[in-house]
Amino acid sequence: MSTATLPDVDTRPEGTESTDDDAPEVFHYVQKNKITESAVTGTHVVALCGAVFPVTKSAKPGSPVCPDCKKVFEGLPPGGEE
Ligand SMILES: [Zn+2]
Repeated sequence: MSTATLPDVDTRPEGTESTDDDAPEVFHYVQKNKITESAVTGTHVVALCGAVFPVTKSAKPGSPVCPDCKKVFEGLPPGGEE
């Protein structure tokens, strides 16, 4: 029951609202309670990879999942073997 070491994250990643042209729009994994809090209060959330952004919109369908978030979510060491 409590074997999982992963944080409580939503299975539905949230997208970033990027203002950088060279930054692709990707899904980030964010704690579910933080998503709710951000949606209500407008505060920024911190994704598993450390990205900070406000939950103001969702990434477009088909957008790639943030590779760093995916590694953390899956418990893979950064730069580990594929
Ligand atoms: Zn991320």
